[in-house]
Amino acid sequence: MSKTQQAASRYQISLRLILIVPFVVQIFTAVGLVGWLSWRSGQRAVNDLATNLGHEITARVHQKLANHLEIAETVVQLNIDAVQLEALDLDQHPEAAAYLFQQLLRFPQLTGVTLATEAPNYVGIAEANDGTRVLTLWNRSDVGVVDYFLDGKGQIVAISKVDQDYDHRQRPWYVNPTIAGIAQWQAPYLTINPARLTISIDQPFYDQVGNLLGVSDAELSLASISDFLSTLKVGKTGQVFIIERTGHLVATSSGQLPYQLNPETEEPERISASDSDDRLVARTTEFLHQKFEGLDQIQDNQQLSFRLDGQCQFVQVMPFHLTEGMDWLVVIAVPESDFMGEIHRNRQTTVTLCGAALLLATGLGLLTTRWLVHPVQTLALAANGLSQGKWQQPVTLPRVQELAWLAQAFNRMAHQLQSYFQKLEYSAYHDALTGLTNRNGLQVALQAAMDQSDGNLFAVFLLDVDNFKLINDSFGHLVGDQLLVAIADRLKQILATATVLPPQTQITLARFGGDEFFILVNPVTDVTQAIGVASHLLANFHSPFTIDNREFFIKTSIGIVLSPVGGDQPESFLRNADIALYAAKNAGKASYKVFDAKMHAIAVERLQIETDLHHALKQQEFILHYQSVVDLKTFEIKGFEALIRWQHPHQGLMPPTCFIPIAEESELILDIGWWVMETACRQMYIWQQQFNDCQTMTMSINFSSKQIFATNCLDQVEHILKITGVDPRQIILEITESLFMQANDATESKLRSLRNLGIQLSVDDFGTGYSSLSYLYQFPLSGLKVDRSFMQQLPNHAQKTAIVEAIILLGQKLGLMVTAEGVETLVQLAWLQDKGIEQVQGFLFAQPLAAETLTMQLANDIKLAPLEH
Ligand code: C2E
Ligand code: CA
Ligand code: CA
Repeated sequence: MSKTQQAASRYQISLRLILIVPFVVQIFTAVGLVGWLSWRSGQRAVNDLATNLGHEITARVHQKLANHLEIAETVVQLNIDAVQLEALDLDQHPEAAAYLFQQLLRFPQLTGVTLATEAPNYVGIAEANDGTRVLTLWNRSDVGVVDYFLDGKGQIVAISKVDQDYDHRQRPWYVNPTIAGIAQWQAPYLTINPARLTISIDQPFYDQVGNLLGVSDAELSLASISDFLSTLKVGKTGQVFIIERTGHLVATSSGQLPYQLNPETEEPERISASDSDDRLVARTTEFLHQKFEGLDQIQDNQQLSFRLDGQCQFVQVMPFHLTEGMDWLVVIAVPESDFMGEIHRNRQTTVTLCGAALLLATGLGLLTTRWLVHPVQTLALAANGLSQGKWQQPVTLPRVQELAWLAQAFNRMAHQLQSYFQKLEYSAYHDALTGLTNRNGLQVALQAAMDQSDGNLFAVFLLDVDNFKLINDSFGHLVGDQLLVAIADRLKQILATATVLPPQTQITLARFGGDEFFILVNPVTDVTQAIGVASHLLANFHSPFTIDNREFFIKTSIGIVLSPVGGDQPESFLRNADIALYAAKNAGKASYKVFDAKMHAIAVERLQIETDLHHALKQQEFILHYQSVVDLKTFEIKGFEALIRWQHPHQGLMPPTCFIPIAEESELILDIGWWVMETACRQMYIWQQQFNDCQTMTMSINFSSKQIFATNCLDQVEHILKITGVDPRQIILEITESLFMQANDATESKLRSLRNLGIQLSVDDFGTGYSSLSYLYQFPLSGLKVDRSFMQQLPNHAQKTAIVEAIILLGQKLGLMVTAEGVETLVQLAWLQDKGIEQVQGFLFAQPLAAETLTMQLANDIKLAPLEH
């Protein structure tokens, strides 16, 4: 993973995560929701079930209890009816006892029936613990109450006991209902023998006038209610129990007795429900106590629930209120778990199904994610590779349609990018015009040559088309470009046929733009072989190039650099090739030069001079010397040539040959040239003012071609003439032949304008250029200067002598003032005189002198004597 990828992944979320997380969240939510809903509906079902069960059971309990108790109520009423209808005579004890016995047999739930009267009379049968029945009889005549044991058929077996103090008319069960005047249930009471919780109903009865006759009583054992309750199924572990408002247990479905034996007195006593052995019964009662702050407060049916041992317990409470005195609470308590078995099973199934669904969904999610993410990853990797320039096989198309489209588009894009890149790469290393290697390409090749040289020599040839600019300016860039292409082709051809080079030689042909061509030849055996190549190149440029049916004769100069002298960097190598080329051009056109250390030193010096030149004008380091021009007949001074000198702060007085060519290569020559003109004009004006002889003298000023070509040339000249006040007719501008090679109509009109100002124009260094002579009459010239190189061998060198003769003749014929310069000897002078030349200039008469020196001389005499040195 790249650094950028790492940095990116720190802040970004992976596609896999984006796909998986919402997916899993959705699934979890859906499954969770379904689970929760099913749990909730289960819960509701449990609640409903509990409620329904509660309702059903309470209804049944109510029904049963009512039935159970109603029998007692009915029997009590029946017996009263029997007495009042005189069907039953209480005085007839045996018949009455038999009647009651029959009654007990008929209603087995009754444990006792009694009829007691005010008379007093008392007939009652009650059940003993062992199931035997005891008959109790008393009437007013008897001494006391007598208990008899009865057998199974109701026959008296024996006397149980006699109680002389007992009087039912003082017992609460008898008294209370007589006070109330209606049937009344007595609070449950414990009988000791048999130990039993019993409940009785007692109803008073009266004669026609309302006098109390007695009380009819029936007894029920509450054990029978417990028995009934235990038959009820309340869930698995649910309980139904009945309590009094006091909290005492009346009956339970658990079979627990509602009383217990006191271990001290060994007598039975009632149990409070909250003390029950059964935890559910005890806790439920406690809960009800807390909930309602006392059981008395519960008036209606209640459905409640509370938690016990972390489980919900459903509770249903029903106040049971029958006839007067009967006020109980029927309580049903069922643990939630009783209903939960099925629900649990359902829930387990749901959980299992949900889990399976989750697993399936996640698996599917992972699979689809893989389907989506894998191609995207592949694409991302491919794109990453592409960004690092690694061209690779097209990405295989994934099966997901949209991704396949994407991959297709990507492949197309990669293909296009690759072809663009290849084109770009080509153009990065090739010249657009000629298709040759460009600067980058050559540098790479050079570096490779350097790295792999292994002691072998290699050479770079720098070819410059002489005066290419002229062609460009004269025939337009289109022709120039065509010519460059033709030159490139020619070079390829020449190099392919260079027999001096063995066939395995590596040749790199390059062009950086412009008219310079580089050739890297690797390897070369030695300098001689390199020179051989250069000569071969020069020789093959003799034949002309034909472009648009026009013939062009091209000459080139070649700079040659060989390793290892050339440098250890491609850049320095190429720079040194340039230095060698410069040297070659300086040596004369159409030649070559091999780079050496001295050349380098010169180049460095040149650079220094160029740097220093920038300050020279501002710091007034230039001065002008003036060389006299002498009339050949009278030896009188006819004029002067202004020649510049540089008072260099470190190198002393420097001749113009050291710096003018350098200045010519830049715009510096313009500032220098205008300064020279102004200074020379001013000097001329001064002398003219000072000396009468100077009125007709001329001042020749060397005028750079660049000054002519400057757009502000005329303005500058006029300005100088104006500020110096010099007479324009006294000014001669010396221009070189090379100007005419570059001249066009504009140049011509410019020269005419100068001429019109009155200024004279003279051709300097005549005979050294290569131009045609036609310009001599085409342009408005007034004179020409025979170059001093012709003087040196005059008159011994026959050819040069002939040329000078021709020039003089030409000048005379064209009406031009011919001046010979560089005249040093009397022999030269004599020859020139013989040829009828008008003016001379040279050391024979005068050196270039400072203005002050000349001023003194002019004050003396304007005639000079030829003086050989
Ligand atoms: P030039 O225009 O041909 O100038 C004449 C050169 O010949 C001068 O060299 C002069 O000192 C030298 N000379 C004159 N008589 C003799 C002689 O008898 N024998 C020898 N051997 N030389 C003689 P200088 O002053 O060194 O100038 C060299 C060149 O520098 C000039 O050649 C001219 O082309 C250029 N130059 C000088 N001053 C200026 C200037 O103000 N502007 C421009 N553009 N070029 C200038
Ligand atoms: Ca000159
Ligand atoms: Ca000259």
